[in-house]
Amino acid sequence: MSVSYEQSRLYALRHSAAHLMAQSILQLFPDAKLTIGPPIENGFYYDVDFGEQKLTEADLERIEAKMRENAERDLPIVREEVSRQDAVARIERMHQTPYKVELLNDIPEGETITFYSQGEFSDLCRGPHVESTGKISHFKLLNIAGAYWRGDVKNRMLTRVYGTAFETQEELERYLHNLEEAKKRDHRTLGRELGLFMFSPIVGQGLPLWLPNGALLRETLSEFLKDEQMKRGYSPVVTPNIGNIALYEKSGHIITFKEKMFPFMVDEDGDTHILKPMNCPFHIEIYRSELRSYRELPVRLAEFGTVYRYEQSGELAGMLRVRGFTQDDAHLFVRPDQLLDEFMGVVDLTIFVCRKLGLNDYRVRIGTKDPNDQKYVGSDENWALAENAIVSACQTMNLDYELSPGDAAFYGPKLDLMLRDALGRTWQMGTVQVDYSLPERFDLEYVGEDGQKHRPIMIHRAPFGSLERMIGLLTEHYAGAFPFWLAPVQIAILPIADRHTDYAAKVRDAFWKRDRKLRIKIDESSERLGKKIVMNQKLKIPFMLIVGDKDVENGTVSVRSREEGDLGPKPLEAFIASVLG
Ligand SMILES: [Zn+2]
Ligand SMILES: [Zn+2]
Repeated sequence: MSVSYEQSRLYALRHSAAHLMAQSILQLFPDAKLTIGPPIENGFYYDVDFGEQKLTEADLERIEAKMRENAERDLPIVREEVSRQDAVARIERMHQTPYKVELLNDIPEGETITFYSQGEFSDLCRGPHVESTGKISHFKLLNIAGAYWRGDVKNRMLTRVYGTAFETQEELERYLHNLEEAKKRDHRTLGRELGLFMFSPIVGQGLPLWLPNGALLRETLSEFLKDEQMKRGYSPVVTPNIGNIALYEKSGHIITFKEKMFPFMVDEDGDTHILKPMNCPFHIEIYRSELRSYRELPVRLAEFGTVYRYEQSGELAGMLRVRGFTQDDAHLFVRPDQLLDEFMGVVDLTIFVCRKLGLNDYRVRIGTKDPNDQKYVGSDENWALAENAIVSACQTMNLDYELSPGDAAFYGPKLDLMLRDALGRTWQMGTVQVDYSLPERFDLEYVGEDGQKHRPIMIHRAPFGSLERMIGLLTEHYAGAFPFWLAPVQIAILPIADRHTDYAAKVRDAFWKRDRKLRIKIDESSERLGKKIVMNQKLKIPFMLIVGDKDVENGTVSVRSREEGDLGPKPLEAFIASVLG
């Protein structure tokens, strides 16, 4: 088991960097009011109320320079426990009312109240921190955004200042370089340039339109997973896009998921329907449609199911967060004695999928129950069984994992694959969840070997998560240069003149004789060759085959590889063999 980010030295360092920034802000802007300043995935931020003042890029530089001064002072960072009364007095002395007082009031009676101080600066804070400001050497302030106090639009808009910090200069520079690179790889820009997908305001926010190249990519991914699932004993099912509200009342989603649902539809018979936010209850009805014997289990029902969720418009982000998307969903109904094996099977499939996609850098996070939270359903006994099954699955499979208490779904623990992409960014993909709750709610059963009725356990899983999110990720990971098997167009044939188009067709047919599914296009546009090459290069097609008089005469193709550049003329059959193996 490895140390989670929240327990790491880096996390404490970034938290201390947030305090260093807050201290420097108060030195430069004595009237500023601090609110909260946590570490986040790749850095930290602090939300500050600057009153009427608007922060500029130049201010960021001044704050950063001040931070360097304070870091050089190497001030010890001191933890102190204080009484509630003293805490209020301190906050007043620092002129940090009212936000900090509100935060103080959130701390339950009886819990220890701590302040962390450095020099003249002191902040209500749970910690932990590094020993002194001198430990914070490799940092950079990044940008400014708006954020509402407590995330509530009814509250005052604050200024959120983002920064990052690392343990070494090298890591910081790599991160900053990757940030620049990420802008170039933005999947929204590449999606348009490569003809993958687009959004149109009249269609609606967060509702992607798949263009031909994107639809091909989507189909290639789906076919790959469907084939694999067939090999692994899944059964395909198809369910509708809307469903009666009664289904979601029974599943409990109407309570737990209501704010993510689109407004309800009432028809002329007075029935209320819901645009499907998740596939699970439909698959449950299919399981329930017949009496199941222990011999039939596990039942694995799979569907590329399109769901709709009402995400806040401010949270929509290209393909990474949309309102309509297709999950590579499946639900496994298993006997208790099958849980461990089935869980391992699902994790194995998820990892297999990631490797095939070239996403080889991943770690496993197990979301367990927070023992102090009351939101979870189901018995403690079942929770312990499920958590143990997930942990033993990881141990048996030799996976390095970290436990993340409080990250479970309300109905059961889960495992997430945390993928790192080519730019070192972490993506939460491939969730697998164990569920004792829905089988209970729907009174699911199977007849056991003993002739008695027993309750199956459900596993929810989606290796891609959604096609939209996965293709957004892959577009950025590969900067649009997809591997040969995934590329929407795999080979472009460029005849130099009209008299070479017949030969171009022969070249294409020679490939198709080997594999009729290869995605090959002949560029018959009337552009000059130079222009054709540039245009096809922009589409990041793995191979361009240029054919002219010499090629017709010698039975060759002049190959330009996306990775290796101009490879010159190659005998056609030999080239086909080298590509297809
Ligand atoms: Zn703090
Ligand atoms: Zn589900």
